[in-house]
Amino acid sequence: MLNLAVLLENTAREAPDRDAVVLGGTRLTYAQIDTEANRVAAALSAHRIGPGDRVALSCPNLPYFPIVHYGILKAGATVVPLNVLLTEREIAYHLQDSGATAYFCFEGTEQLPIAEAGVRAFESTPGCEQFVLLPGTPSGAARPENPGTTTLAEFTDGMPAAFDTVQTAETDTAVILYTSGTTGAPKGAELTHSNMVHNALMASRLFAMVPDDVQLLALPLFHSFGQTAQLNAGFATGTTIVLMPRFDARAAIEVMVRERITFFAGVPTMYWALLNCEDVTGCDLAAIAENLRLGVSGGSALPVEVLKGFEERFCVPILEGYGLSETSPIATFNRIDRPRKPGSIGFPAWGVEVSVVRPDGTEADIDEPGEIRIRGHNVMKGYLDRPEATAEAVDEQGWFRTGDVGRRDADGYLYIVDRTKDLIIRGGFNVYPRELEEVLLTHPAVSLAAVVGVPHASHGEEVKAFVIRKPGVTATEADIVAWCRQNMAGHKYPRIVEFRDGLPMTATGKILKRELADRPSA
Ligand code: AMP
Repeated sequence: MLNLAVLLENTAREAPDRDAVVLGGTRLTYAQIDTEANRVAAALSAHRIGPGDRVALSCPNLPYFPIVHYGILKAGATVVPLNVLLTEREIAYHLQDSGATAYFCFEGTEQLPIAEAGVRAFESTPGCEQFVLLPGTPSGAARPENPGTTTLAEFTDGMPAAFDTVQTAETDTAVILYTSGTTGAPKGAELTHSNMVHNALMASRLFAMVPDDVQLLALPLFHSFGQTAQLNAGFATGTTIVLMPRFDARAAIEVMVRERITFFAGVPTMYWALLNCEDVTGCDLAAIAENLRLGVSGGSALPVEVLKGFEERFCVPILEGYGLSETSPIATFNRIDRPRKPGSIGFPAWGVEVSVVRPDGTEADIDEPGEIRIRGHNVMKGYLDRPEATAEAVDEQGWFRTGDVGRRDADGYLYIVDRTKDLIIRGGFNVYPRELEEVLLTHPAVSLAAVVGVPHASHGEEVKAFVIRKPGVTATEADIVAWCRQNMAGHKYPRIVEFRDGLPMTATGKILKRELADRPSA
């Protein structure tokens, strides 16, 4: 018997008065979060929602998130966290596909009116019977006349502060995370209580978390990285978590100073934004360096130039790791106690096996690129209701095929070469964009770069670089192409360079390469 909610319950029992969550002037202790989660669980149970049921949640990084998340788990049901940027049609797809019977949805803000789309999606999903609105302040949501809709206060009205968590088996599904995986429409990766508890405890240990840690949580909580590496790991340890609903570099720097942040987890674009944030007037960067003891990065490749620059500016080490939604997510990480090699994703995490294989399934040699496969307590149970996709992703021996190309060096350090789907084939030669992006970033005028393949009549694909220039510099397309030509083999260097002020990104901060590749060149 194991339930992911044990991570909260244990700390609430041992350190009830410790601050669990901070947002602006609001501070909630572990006891408060636990009590509110109990009331949500009791209300769900009263509505006969429990084991085997799935409950969707659309909520940015607000105290509601942990309260509802752990409330659903305590009721024995499965949480289906949704990206807050989804449209009505997409929400309806996720509600339907997951078979959600209840849906908690934050009202949203003027810029991001989440509940408007949420309510309409709920109304078009007959199997979903309960809509619970998480109101903003002041609440202005137009409540539909549907008998299934209620606010959180109404839903939990009169519910007891104590609740006995419904027993679940460790192989029961705790969370369903929607991901496109390597192909196709979003699929629900079923992560068990065992998957999630193991990964959280591993993260807490890898990052040497202690109860005195104060984390800045800017990664979206609907994604596995923030959920496991910060929320679950942090609650398991008893850290204080400062929530940031929307990442903004200047605001993050201010929070780091004000709240004496000791631990930060981010995707590379966040590190890039913090490193390049010019508007730091009045911010005591030295105070950040004094308190911040560790940064961790994952989700996409952390360019070596960004890593070095950040470590220099903020005097703090960054550990890079690697994983996927399907692996809860942590699979490999660099270690505090071992020397780091720039660009490496470190070593397999505790109890996780990683193999690098050739297309024929045999193990690649040292430094030979191959597909990364993962086996261990972190690998999902499967994709919800998709036995074929599951069989394609996880073989009979339990190895999960990641679709990422990697290599292992002679000292056992692992590296991501690139994603299989980002590979460019130019005139029959393989070009891995990641390698080119690293070279582009060494050009003194280049601040950020993304390389994609665009259709080409005779080469099949041509290599194109999108570049954000550093402020005040005037490098031209010809300058950048010449630099690349000097530093890369002839079949690789980008022939086309397009300058941009910004690059399209997902809600989790990954550069949307597919969108760049689809656009006609300027
Ligand atoms: P997601 O399921 O959204 O977490 O995305 C997983 C994908 O992110 C992986 O398949 C990788 O392509 C990519 N990824 C995660 N961490 C890294 C990393 N450190 N370096 C390069 N790619 C990464």
